Amino acid sequence: MTDRKSIQTALIHSDYAAPAGFAAMPVAIHHASTVLFKNVAAMRSRNWQDKSAYTYGLHGTPTTFTLEARLAEIEGGNHCLLAPSGLAAIAMVDFALLKAGDDLLIPDNVYNPNRELAKWLSQDFGISARVYDPLIGAGIAELIQPNTRLIWTEAPGSVSMEVPDIPAICRAAQARSVQGQKVYVAIDNTWSAGLGFRAFEHGVDISMQALTKYQSGGSDVLMGAVITRDKDLIHRLELAHMRMGYGVGADDAYLVLRGLPTMKLRFDAHDAGARKVATWLKERPEIARVLHPALPDCPGHEIWRRDFSGAGGLFSVIFDERYTEEQTDRFVDSLKLFKIGFSWGGAHSLCVPYRIQGMRRNWTDKGQLVRFNIGLEDPLDLIADIEQALSVL
Ligand SMILES: *Cc1c(COP(=O)(O)O)cnc(C)c1O
Repeated sequence: MTDRKSIQTALIHSDYAAPAGFAAMPVAIHHASTVLFKNVAAMRSRNWQDKSAYTYGLHGTPTTFTLEARLAEIEGGNHCLLAPSGLAAIAMVDFALLKAGDDLLIPDNVYNPNRELAKWLSQDFGISARVYDPLIGAGIAELIQPNTRLIWTEAPGSVSMEVPDIPAICRAAQARSVQGQKVYVAIDNTWSAGLGFRAFEHGVDISMQALTKYQSGGSDVLMGAVITRDKDLIHRLELAHMRMGYGVGADDAYLVLRGLPTMKLRFDAHDAGARKVATWLKERPEIARVLHPALPDCPGHEIWRRDFSGAGGLFSVIFDERYTEEQTDRFVDSLKLFKIGFSWGGAHSLCVPYRIQGMRRNWTDKGQLVRFNIGLEDPLDLIADIEQALSVL
């Protein structure tokens, strides 16, 4: 072979290498499907589970490894795996830990797609999925069967906002775990972003995050993560992660990395704004209850005070029962700064009405439920917006 390549080959193989030693703040974005090995021996000795080296783009690049390490750091965990969405992270946990014949417990107020997945597992995969009262606390012990392998928790629950007694649930699960047959406790810790609730310090085995929310903060990316301290667990989670082909895009990983330095400042600002708006709403005659964990109307408020250090921007209210769904829908439609849409954690405030009576067992409130996500706008402007929208009731 001569040194002179044809143009076609030169377009693919270039001899140029940029000088080493480039340094800058952002984590580099590595795009790759194929990852190159130095030689055949290096290829043959690869270990996809050992994050000391690279195997294939799907199983990690320096960009995704860095994001995983930083997310584990935030929660005080040792291991982290990324998933293409928060829901995919939930599915990774279920598929890693459950097989036909096993039993799964989920709280009645869990993020609804988690519950839908549990239903699917029980209809088609031979797993029993049972729903428990989120305020059950130590009483969960009575529900744990010899085949119970996983208890999902969420703090607070999506939409209805009850704060569960996670330490009590973890103690019950530990008491019923035997050698090789552990009852694992997983938490959907998205609401507190791992900042307001230190899951592992309260006995939880797996913390799941929808990075779509506060970590990204931009309303522009979907991603999830599963974090743990347990070596056996990470091995099982890695198998599920690999077998299900859970890759994330390099640019998306970069967007989440870009959000992290400001995450606590944003979270605290969401928290302060939400408490202002929630406290104002509590004084309004149109509102029967404010379901914000930092306010006493919220079931589990005392547990929140005991176990949590922050609250973020998400809470719900129950309107006085004299207002019909049509009226509260009109209230939501009349808001100007609050947009109508799912998700949260971005700069924009959002508002969604939920038909809570059809979502929960034994729900006794008759009033309409509306959920607010307080963004980063000035809370006084948000209050003024709510005030003008309340006038249409
Ligand atoms: C948004 C959300 C999820 C799912 O995250 P996606 O990335 O949207 O799939 C899971 N749990 C909770 C509590 C959430 O708010």
